[in-house]
Amino acid sequence: MPSPTHRPPMPVFDGHNDTLLNLHSPERGKGRSFFTRSEIGHMDLPRARQGGLAGGFFGIFVPAPTGFATGIADSPAITYTGNGYSVALEPPLEPAYAVEYTGAVIQVLFGLEAASGGEVKVVRDADQLHQCLASGVLAAVLHFEGAEAIHTDLSNLEGYYQQGLRSIGITWSRPNAFGSGVPFSYPSSPDTGPGLTSAGKDLVRACNRLGIVVDLAHLNEKGFWDAANLTTAPLVVTHSAVHTLTPKSRNLTDRQLDAVAASNGVVGITFARYDVATSGSLKGDVPLAETVHHILYMVQRMGVDHVGFGSDFDGTQIPEEMGDVTGLPRLIDLLRDAGLDEAALRKLAHENWERVLRDTWK
Ligand SMILES: [Zn+2]
Repeated sequence: MPSPTHRPPMPVFDGHNDTLLNLHSPERGKGRSFFTRSEIGHMDLPRARQGGLAGGFFGIFVPAPTGFATGIADSPAITYTGNGYSVALEPPLEPAYAVEYTGAVIQVLFGLEAASGGEVKVVRDADQLHQCLASGVLAAVLHFEGAEAIHTDLSNLEGYYQQGLRSIGITWSRPNAFGSGVPFSYPSSPDTGPGLTSAGKDLVRACNRLGIVVDLAHLNEKGFWDAANLTTAPLVVTHSAVHTLTPKSRNLTDRQLDAVAASNGVVGITFARYDVATSGSLKGDVPLAETVHHILYMVQRMGVDHVGFGSDFDGTQIPEEMGDVTGLPRLIDLLRDAGLDEAALRKLAHENWERVLRDTWK
């Protein structure tokens, strides 16, 4: 049955989007405005409202100085090897360039907030987040996808915190001074390289002290366990999927899923279609049922308190059935059809993220 049209969409708080990059980069965003409905990309404010998106982690990803081309699905950098494929890791970024680029994208986020007339707020604590979710203000968490802009002596970390930074992914899929990310490989274990450096371990401790989320998405398995053994906060993986179902280096093994659950943390399920495709194929569409399959597996394995959404809107290719952020209610309808009750759906949609952020932020 189609969902009743009179029901407002369920509020969703989401673990990852790259919308700031699209707004910053003419190459990606083609000059679109966040406040005007467009067909470009996955998200703007009118479409977020329609889909029920109430907030999320707004990521700052620093592309290679040469552009965005590598690491993405149709990139020529991908090589097929028998029944799998692999993408070489991008080289490390120049720290000064990362600082400059990050600063510019931070200004994009605060520019959005300032221009929104109160409709968008960069949230700094759990009460602000709760207030936004209750009142319909779009809540944005400032997140770094990769810690390249952080000095290795952490001397600028508190400055970013004061600006509003509340979440850091230690790595993207490249090495940096703190650790090493996984390549986009299939089939492949996530155990693809060395663990955290001593600076990486210091970063985890400093984030714990300040109350900044440490996001383990894109990190390789040794780095994951180093962080898991050190951190005093719930484990967070903002956008990933199930390795048992799609054995890709980017996805989490059952042991990793169990560790996140045991820490009272959360995994945001990515909507990236090639991370949930059973075949692992980079090509072609994937039914939204595959995303549902991964979610149900996580719910069964980890418990319903430890699963959320991590769309990767504007950062990847998503199932055509979802289309863009306006397709969120379709995913929730499919989960309801699969037997999840309203209480479980609310946990997945926003309550689990809200709990973990309250437990992590000071
Ligand atoms: Zn990502």
